[in-house]
Parts: sequence; C-alpha cells; structure tokens
Amino acid sequence: MKAMLVIADGLGGRPTDWNGATCLEQAETPHMDRLAREGALGLMDPIAPGVRPGSDTSHLSIFGYDPAEVYTGRGAFEALGIGLNVRGGDVCFRANFATVEDTGGDLIVRDRRAGRLAEGQELAEALQELTLNDGDVSFTFRASTEHRGALVLRGPGLSAEVTDSDPHEEGKPVAVCKPQRESDEARRTAELVNAFSRRAYELLRDHPVNRARRQQGKPEGNVLLLRGAAVMPHLDAVTEQYRIQGSCIAGGALYKGVAGAAGLTVLDVPGVTGDLKTDLSAKAQAAERALESSQLVFVHIKGTDNAAHDGEAEEKSRFIERIDKEFFGGLADRLSRGDVVLCFSGDHSTPPAVGEHTADPVPALFWGAPIRRDACEKFDEIAAGAGGLGRFSGRLVPQLLGYCDLGGKFGA
Ligand code: ZN
Ligand code: ZN
Repeated sequence: MKAMLVIADGLGGRPTDWNGATCLEQAETPHMDRLAREGALGLMDPIAPGVRPGSDTSHLSIFGYDPAEVYTGRGAFEALGIGLNVRGGDVCFRANFATVEDTGGDLIVRDRRAGRLAEGQELAEALQELTLNDGDVSFTFRASTEHRGALVLRGPGLSAEVTDSDPHEEGKPVAVCKPQRESDEARRTAELVNAFSRRAYELLRDHPVNRARRQQGKPEGNVLLLRGAAVMPHLDAVTEQYRIQGSCIAGGALYKGVAGAAGLTVLDVPGVTGDLKTDLSAKAQAAERALESSQLVFVHIKGTDNAAHDGEAEEKSRFIERIDKEFFGGLADRLSRGDVVLCFSGDHSTPPAVGEHTADPVPALFWGAPIRRDACEKFDEIAAGAGGLGRFSGRLVPQLLGYCDLGGKFGA
C-alpha cells in the first residue's frame, strides 16, 4: 500500500461564511462526496484543540512532529523551501532587497521592497562573491520571488538569538543587528551579520541592475534587510523513520521546506504556482506519477487559504469546486483502493468571515481498502463531525503510513 496526503490550505470554515453554511458545504463536490461515501471522515485539530495554527507549525504536526519541540521560526523552513541546502544547526534569516539612501553614515530605508523588483536573481549572483574573513562561517543567499530571499549562515559557534537588521519601517536607518542575550555565539553572529550587510551594500550599490534602475527612476535593490533569525532544527526524517521514499508537490516555499525537512523529495512541476492560478490537473498528474517511485506522496494546494485571507467566501467555494473537478476528478477514478490510502484535509481552518487562521477543527477524509467505512454521505465539516474517525490531533502522515502497515511496532 502507498499513501497520498492532499492538504488544501485553510480548508475548514464556519457557518458564518455563507449565511449558515461553510464554503465547503456550499461548494458542489461530487468527487469528494463519493470518496467520503466510500471512506471515513473525522475532525482534526491540527495541533491541539484551541490552538490557532500557523501553516508551518500545523504541517510539522501533520507530519508527526511536535511543533512545541521542533519549531524555531518560519525563516528556517522558508530557506529550505526556496531550494537552499539547509542543515540542522544552520542559522537562517528571511531577507528583502530594499532601497536605502546613504545620508553620509546612516543608510536610511526608503522602500522596504525595492519597488518589488524582478531582478533579484541577478543581484543574488553578485552576493555569491561575498566572502568574509571569518573563514569557518559560510554565508549563502538565495533570491525567491520579487524582492524576497533567504540567507543561511553555517559554521560553529553561531546563534539565532540576534535582532533584525530590517527596521520594519521606512524612513528609519538599517538597524544594527544585536545579540538578544549575552553569549559569545550571539555576539559573534551579530558582528558577522553586520559585516555581511555592509559588504552586501558595497557590492549592490553600483551593480549594473541598480545603475539601470537609477537611470529609469526606479527604486534600487541596494541593500539586504534581514529578519526572523531561526535555527534549522534537527528533524528525524519521516522517510528514514519509515524507510520509504517520499515526494512533495507544492507551490509555496514554506510547504516545500517542511516536506524537504521531513525527507521528501520536492518535485518541480510546471504550472504549480502556490496560489489561485495553480494548475490543479498538473498537480494530479504529477501526484499519480510520483506514486510509482514513492510510498508517500504529499500534495499541497494553497488557493483555498489565499481566498479566505482575502475574505472571499465565493472565491474559496469556487476554488474548492476546482479542486474537486480538476484535482480529484479523474485521479479519484484511477486510484485503486487496494493500492493507495488517500487522505484529504486542511492544515487549519481559515473562515473568510474572519480572514485569518482559527482554532476550529478541520474535516479529514481517509479512503482506501484498509479504512473502515462510516455513514458519511458527503465531505464537509458537518458530516465530518459525525464521522467514524472521531476527533484527533494532527499526525495525518503517521496515520496514513500506519494504514499502509509501514513503520515498526511500539513495544513487543
Ligand atoms: Zn495554512
Ligand atoms: Zn494562511
């Protein structure tokens, strides 16, 4: 048996979203409803009842980790997700290209996003030349989308207990990175970060990209602002714990990062964007192909959460219908109950009426030959409340792999 986990981000909702119905209840979902009739439903508290989850902490919990133990901040997982090689113990920062004005000493931030410039990759190349004297610490920067990127520091004697160089406000000078507590590691890390920031500015200010932007009257990407220092935790890879191969199909950097840390191979699927425009049938095809070489296939779909954050109940319901038709339509017919255990759920609830993640439990569906059928006729929050799987916290991946008889026994 193989396992497929499909997470629609922020899937759960509240009856206040549609005047008495959730977006999932309101959506027409014939394929999900058929899977619900053949499988079993339950309600999942992503972390624990009453905990309002972030997407990162929730995914850690879904993969079987205890976020209270391993979560160090989103910086580490984002760095992994944009393709940086991050190892346990590395110190990661989220980074922005920004525009500063040199006032003869202070660098005053004029645009924290450098006009959302598109030349981040070119500027990042210049930063690869940057070596610091402190030979045993390496700095690796990688650009992601627009003005964004991540910086990873690797070496002995580092600490993430340092402040941001991002002043988080325009009109203020680039902040000096400071130790957050008195330790040699924090002091040294802060010194290295400040030296890096200065050198980066010197390299960026006369970069051809910035000269061209200056001529065009556009804000330059002449500095790198750093924030959210986080140590990459040492995670025991799920793939090693279970001795399996795993694949991840996702658009968003955070999800690729968590899945990568759990040992899954992150696949590059054209058309997968991590937003409402994503190619859902390309995701379904990639997921089906990945089953040939993997015992665990993880698919992440982000658009549900995006629509919900924007307060768009109509858009969230229509996107759920697209997941039903373009992702599950076809795929659900081709999957064989005897070969695959499927789980479909969310990583938390994002009711459009609230526009943020809430602590409400999320409907979860399990389908496949080993699953004991329940009386549910359709897939939504209300049906899931009466489902045979009851109410449980996170750990969808361990549950799925358990149904596949993978993993060792706890005890004799
Ligand atoms: Zn989420
Ligand atoms: Zn969200």
